[in-house]
Amino acid sequence: MLNNQGRPTAAGAAGAQSHPTFTGNRALMIEEALLFEIGRADVTGVDLDEPEGIAFSSEVGTGSREENASGKRAFKHRLGGLERKGAIGLVGLSEPETMRHYVRLSQKNYGIDTGLFPLGSCTMKHNPRLNEKMARLPGFADVHPLQPQSTVQGALELVDELARWLLALTGTEAVAMSPKAGAHGELAGMMAIKAAIEARGEAETRRVVLVPESAHGTNPATAALIGFVVKPVPARADGTVHVEDVRALLGPDVAAIMLTNPNTCGIFEPQVVEIAAAMHAAGGYFYCDGANFNAIVGKARPGDLGIDAMHINLHKTFSTPHGGGGPGAGPVVLSARLAPFAPLPFLRRTETGLELVEDRAAAGESRPFGRVTAFHGQMGMFVRALAYMLSHGADGMRQASEDAVLNANYIRAGLQDLMSVPFPDHPSMHEALFDDAWLKDTGVTTLDFAKAMIDEGYHPMTMYFPLVVHGAMLIEPTESESRAALDLFIMALRDLALRAKRGETERFAGAPFHAPRRRLDETRAARAPVLRWTPPEPVRDAAE
Ligand SMILES: *Cc1c(COP(=O)(O)O)cnc(C)c1O
Repeated sequence: MLNNQGRPTAAGAAGAQSHPTFTGNRALMIEEALLFEIGRADVTGVDLDEPEGIAFSSEVGTGSREENASGKRAFKHRLGGLERKGAIGLVGLSEPETMRHYVRLSQKNYGIDTGLFPLGSCTMKHNPRLNEKMARLPGFADVHPLQPQSTVQGALELVDELARWLLALTGTEAVAMSPKAGAHGELAGMMAIKAAIEARGEAETRRVVLVPESAHGTNPATAALIGFVVKPVPARADGTVHVEDVRALLGPDVAAIMLTNPNTCGIFEPQVVEIAAAMHAAGGYFYCDGANFNAIVGKARPGDLGIDAMHINLHKTFSTPHGGGGPGAGPVVLSARLAPFAPLPFLRRTETGLELVEDRAAAGESRPFGRVTAFHGQMGMFVRALAYMLSHGADGMRQASEDAVLNANYIRAGLQDLMSVPFPDHPSMHEALFDDAWLKDTGVTTLDFAKAMIDEGYHPMTMYFPLVVHGAMLIEPTESESRAALDLFIMALRDLALRAKRGETERFAGAPFHAPRRRLDETRAARAPVLRWTPPEPVRDAAE
């Protein structure tokens, strides 16, 4: 196999199955080498005039010129002796070559704009293009965090209006807008709880945080990071948390519980109100992981359920698909008991407009625990979230939640005669959870099944999470998938499920057959990533 630069690639193997190609490309699926493999360091893609009075030494690598004594002096003078001594080592490529490389890379990214993206516990949500248009308005896109506040009053109004929507939808007292992701919001919310406990003089005694076994890993990590002792709440066979199990753990040492609702098994916690009351009666706080808010927006207000703090992943619930590292935003709403401890900065309305309160001295009655980010949060995400809310309106957001729940249950109903459902007694909220009991004795695993989905053109669902469900497959279609799209997805999964049951193990063990790469060593990729390119030996020798 050769790539388009004529060098052998290991990767051509996938295409080699049936009709090997000279280039290693398969139709318009182009083998993309690294920039360093495509280009060479001793050529350049640009043609710049040599600046007057400057001579480059041949080592610079941009073309050798005769050395010129006076020019060299001028060069030194201008760069203060910091001129490059060795070769820069970057490849020289023309603009079209560079452009193609990055455009092709971007096309290898599967996202919600390319197809159904069934990851659960993530809400890979359609992001209306209107949001993008709004976020790119120069008045929002180009604001600088150090600009005088008088010049960004419109942007501050937007943040304030979004905050009011978040308070209305959650039924809470205050919101810290600055956290930059869900996990960051968790941290801010738990730090507010810690500050409240310190203010009560109970910092030494209340050190335990209860976390159900089904929780997202960020929950125990957050609690542990700020010095709490994490105690697991055991999982019940029906996938929910029972108030008796919480009560059994309560005492003067318990600071808070971190509960996800709807939970990571896709179930609305039936005893959430009782759990909140039990926590409060025992002097503790109720932190709610709000990552699954998409299922209940406009239907239930977490404040009414008794929560004290909840982060909202704007990038899950209020559009903007995430992944690949960002950007997100994780505002955290707070009950009246925690509101005084909200972090800096926060907005205050004065006679002349909105003002960002940036330090404790200016905080008045409030007792902010500190700050969690350098500036004020993710402006672009705020604009998208508010654009989403305003274009949907209250009724539209409620309908989005209803449709998300309907779609998840439609998928569950379409598959549950073939694939086993671990918690059949509870209806699904916005995501449908299956386990691998139905794969027993087929020789096919959850991972194999997911790889076969790639061949069918689907990003796999969330696998092996929540941990309390064996071989979990967590599918969240969101509200924006049409019935036709759901039907096709269901038929594709039914076809695979029937093949697994018929014992067609090869279809699975070797999958994916049609992807650019086959089975990767995912553990090694995560644990020992190759982050630096080193020239292959023969090439290095030739250059010397
Ligand atoms: C996504 C998620 C988080 C973390 O949110 P990020 O924005 O990714 O930091 C926490 N808990 C649950 C249940 C989640 O699904």
